[in-house]
Amino acid sequence: MKIACFSTKPYDEQFLSAAAKEFEHEFAFLEHRLDASTVVLVEGCDAVCAFVNDTLDRSVLEKLSEFGIGLLAMRCAGINNVDLDAAAEFGVRVVRVPRYSPYAVAEHTVGLILTLNRKIHKAYNRVRENNFSIDGFLGFDLQGRTFGVIGTGAIGRVLAKIMNGFGCRVLLYDRFPNEEGKQLGEYVGLDDLLAESDLVSLQCPLTPETYHLIDADRLRKMKRGAMLINTSRGGLVDASAAIEGLKSGQLGGFALDVYEEESGVFFEDLSQEVMQDDVLSRLMTFPNVLITSHQAFFTREALETIAHTTLQSIDAFGRGDDLVDEVVATPS
Ligand code: NAD
Repeated sequence: MKIACFSTKPYDEQFLSAAAKEFEHEFAFLEHRLDASTVVLVEGCDAVCAFVNDTLDRSVLEKLSEFGIGLLAMRCAGINNVDLDAAAEFGVRVVRVPRYSPYAVAEHTVGLILTLNRKIHKAYNRVRENNFSIDGFLGFDLQGRTFGVIGTGAIGRVLAKIMNGFGCRVLLYDRFPNEEGKQLGEYVGLDDLLAESDLVSLQCPLTPETYHLIDADRLRKMKRGAMLINTSRGGLVDASAAIEGLKSGQLGGFALDVYEEESGVFFEDLSQEVMQDDVLSRLMTFPNVLITSHQAFFTREALETIAHTTLQSIDAFGRGDDLVDEVVATPS
């Protein structure tokens, strides 16, 4: 089969090409993001491979179907950017990579916490300028702190395990608590988790229900001065409300790897351009905000698994086999 691969970066091409050697499929690597203006590029292909900031809304899915695309292979876990109802309506089957490396995301989350708490990013720059002062770098021990995890799936559980290792008291919240989670912390209600946690980390998917899960009201319910960490999806946090929380001191720190309006910004080199997003610009002015550009997944192990799983799904589709990683719309 021929697969149109959108939003391709050099590392995607490297890992997908390596995995493709095992299979008889061919990629057309495209740097463009997939949206209504680029969908024509799928002409002549049998399947599409897309990523987190591609637009898979109704109009794009209808076009995919018109071009004879039967499979959309998302090379990621979160698929909030895919209209699954429309995919079903137009006969486009959707697969994703539900499990690649929960360690990659959990470990990056811990990296953000340690960096923001101990100001390692600032120390790096200061020392390079022969400034060996430690003024302004005061942090806090994680040992003994209460750590709240919202979403106790694969990533949330790895994170909870790591934070247990730091000696934190771990509180958990999930709509569907699970047995493994119960071994790693105490399940509580969301309001209790927010009120008691010194750090709150978001590890749940973005759905209509979790959109702006952390809004002005929930920020008020958090312990004053607590740190918020978001390595899941930008839309989980109302960034404007977070800015108000940071200004008032209610929010003591904000580390984020994802941002609601990241599409067209994250993954791109915009160093020669004027930043058009005022909310992102304002966030970058706070000394207690740390932003990375959706890189939590970005480890060798994760990319190998993503490439291999994606090709396995494409191959199964080509052979008419069951698609084990298929996602379908849940009836409302
Ligand atoms: P998972 O499916 O294993 O776990 C998600 C958990 O969230 C489940 O336990 C589920 O019950 C829970 N949940 C669902 N709705 C909820 C709600 N309303 N409130 C509380 N909990 C809820 O997923 P995962 O592999 O742990 O990944 C979690 C999210 O991380 C993904 O959906 C994705 O958006 C994000 N992610 C980000 C990156 C990155 O690079 N930053 C990489 C991979 C995944």
